[in-house]
Amino acid sequence: MKSSADIAKLLAGLSQGSVVAAARLITLIENGGEAAEAVMDGVFPRTKGAYRIGFTGPPGAGKSSLVYHLCRFFRCAGGEIGIIAVDPTSPFSGGALLGDRIRMQKLSDDPGVFLRSLASRGSLGGISNCTDEVADLLDAFGKDLILIETVGVGQSELEIAEKTHTVVVILVPESGDGVQAMKAGLMEIGDVFVMNKSDHPDAMRAAQELEDTLRIKDVPEGAWRPPVVLASALHERGIEEIAERIGEHRRYLEENGLVDAKRRRILFSRVRDAVMERMERRLWDDARNRMIIESRMEEVYSGRLSPSGLVRELEKLFVDTLVG
Ligand code: GDP
Repeated sequence: MKSSADIAKLLAGLSQGSVVAAARLITLIENGGEAAEAVMDGVFPRTKGAYRIGFTGPPGAGKSSLVYHLCRFFRCAGGEIGIIAVDPTSPFSGGALLGDRIRMQKLSDDPGVFLRSLASRGSLGGISNCTDEVADLLDAFGKDLILIETVGVGQSELEIAEKTHTVVVILVPESGDGVQAMKAGLMEIGDVFVMNKSDHPDAMRAAQELEDTLRIKDVPEGAWRPPVVLASALHERGIEEIAERIGEHRRYLEENGLVDAKRRRILFSRVRDAVMERMERRLWDDARNRMIIESRMEEVYSGRLSPSGLVRELEKLFVDTLVG
């Protein structure tokens, strides 16, 4: 446990650009509890409004390869970059190859880049529950752009849209049924679509299909219409175009006063998520509640009580727990 004096010292180090302080503070955030909250209380006022870009798509689509090349591209244009890679600990990932890791690590040799992997929350990958906090920390650390890479499975794609200004969805020509299903969710949230692996023989056709699908979408007059970029991380093709499209989306948001609207949405969803998490923990961890739930579940298992009947009971019980 760190004392508040230790935390204050680390925060001062963060303001002075200390990489060690930033890394230690992130660990404190990851560990959670009161120390994490003290860190965040100190970090939030230091944030400057870094632009956040999310990268999502199926495992193996080329997210980390593209983030690597884009990072290098953005660095050439100036500005400092923070990367949050939500660790693909899930069995779905085909991306955790040693070579890719080493390549990402190489970025860390550049003092203008700070990269951090975060363990993902569930076994299905997706987003770590301290992504927002770490993004704030990197913002306070002086990073201008924050790239957040996450595997797009289940609900997590919706989460990335609530954490970033621009969402880049990365897809590949070879896609099975699971990916098709995933795509349905991804189609809703992408601001820029990338058809990676353009070296694949089906790439042109897949990109065209994707464009056709996007064209059907109802987009109000003057609103952003997500473009499709054909790219190959392997052959470093299309990197500049992806960066340009991201830039255009950013300008679109800025010119329409939407950056602040996004920021408000990011903060709102964050407060909502934190409250939900805290309430959930409080209600389910309460020893008396647990006892009642376990015994009432027996009624459900035996068919004497319906699940929804129990839910109504629990609602009353939970209200009492919160009030009492
Ligand atoms: P992630 O799981 O989405 O982060 O995907 P990775 O970036 O780790 O890439 C998965 C695999 O696809 C790696 O072996 C990459 O080398 C390979 N890959 C990435 N981009 C391309 C590409 O444009 N063409 C081909 N053929 N392979 C690629």
